[in-house]
Amino acid sequence: MIKANDPSLKSWIEVPSNNDFPIQNLPFGIFKTQSSNSRVGVAIGDQVLDLSMLNKLGFLEDFKIDDSVFSTNYLNDLIALGKPFCSALRHRISNLLNSNNPELRDNKNACYKVLHFMSNVQMQMPVKVGDYTDFYSSIYHATNVGTMFRDPANALLPNWKHLPVGYHGRSSSIVVSGTSFHRPKGQTKPADSDLPIFGPCKLLDFELEMAFIIGKSTELGTAVSTTDADDYIFGLALFNDWSARDIQTWEYVPLGPFLAKNFASTISPWIVTLEALEPFRTEGYKQEPKVLPYLEYSGEKNIDIQLEVSIQPEKGEENTVCRSNFKFMYWTMEQQLAHHTSNGCNINIGDLMASGTISGPAANSFGSMLELSWKGTKPVKLKDGTERKFINDNDTVIMRGYCEKNGLRIGFGEAAGKVLPTL
Ligand code: CA
Repeated sequence: MIKANDPSLKSWIEVPSNNDFPIQNLPFGIFKTQSSNSRVGVAIGDQVLDLSMLNKLGFLEDFKIDDSVFSTNYLNDLIALGKPFCSALRHRISNLLNSNNPELRDNKNACYKVLHFMSNVQMQMPVKVGDYTDFYSSIYHATNVGTMFRDPANALLPNWKHLPVGYHGRSSSIVVSGTSFHRPKGQTKPADSDLPIFGPCKLLDFELEMAFIIGKSTELGTAVSTTDADDYIFGLALFNDWSARDIQTWEYVPLGPFLAKNFASTISPWIVTLEALEPFRTEGYKQEPKVLPYLEYSGEKNIDIQLEVSIQPEKGEENTVCRSNFKFMYWTMEQQLAHHTSNGCNINIGDLMASGTISGPAANSFGSMLELSWKGTKPVKLKDGTERKFINDNDTVIMRGYCEKNGLRIGFGEAAGKVLPTL
């Protein structure tokens, strides 16, 4: 077992049992305070550990890290030091936060300098995302969409079980949780009209996804195998790949998603390392027919991450509208990466790859309003008596996710975004 993942570890920082950030998690993020520039932090309970200050005070001196790696706007330079390095750093932080270690615990002056309450910091975009790729790897989601728009008997297109379908997205509009955006405008064609119109999107939707961050670059022409793929995955975050369904319907033929998908995507601020998630690996979906040899894999590669989505109307209560799980994925991250690089396409540190909407088999586990309201035919009732077919102006959509096993829970925090009226 990886030592920092040991469920018996306890921190001298109080962490309630339902908190996402016990000592076994230690995700990395970028934060700033009212008086400091952006820097690398690690979440522990309801606090943030300032790695720049920790380094300045000498607690990380064995690593000989230049402060520029920690006093920075993005995690990319830290990630570039490699997974063995980041793993050793995570172990050192685990050791410093361990209840049995007085080193930092009993140094009140240092504690005052290196710890901030989360409520007093502002989380930033964690990673400078280079390229963003979005997959379509949940069989329940693809089957639902195929059933609604094509033919229930042939819901999956002929390629779907042979390769992880994906497309190249846009990284410039990925925003960190807490960032509001305006309802996009675009071209749509109303059913009762021969000609298109331009105006606010009428069918704005969320997509419940997980994203993984590339932690190691490849040279052009190099393929990554499913066996080696984990060496290239730094960690995961929650991801809301907002979608404009009416714009998509009109624009997507024949080249696929474009302006319906690139106006905003919301990412959670903490990158949970793949290492911390290892104890929660689980068996994957049984793939029939057999995949081609370059997509074969062995071992448990899915991850049991419980996911939920809430809609919070302006000044109203939260309403949980979906409970799903990352383990429902048909294609694993390792297969996605092997496929992505199978033609020699190179990947870079900080690239982001998203799973595609994660729907489960049950009607309350569908990961988009399109499916939950079944194309608008079954409105979702909220506690305030209103209904939603899609997302209204001033609604906030909140995604959360956590793993739980043998009494240990590690989580991702949240990916929240509010929809403002069209500008
Ligand atoms: Ca998507």
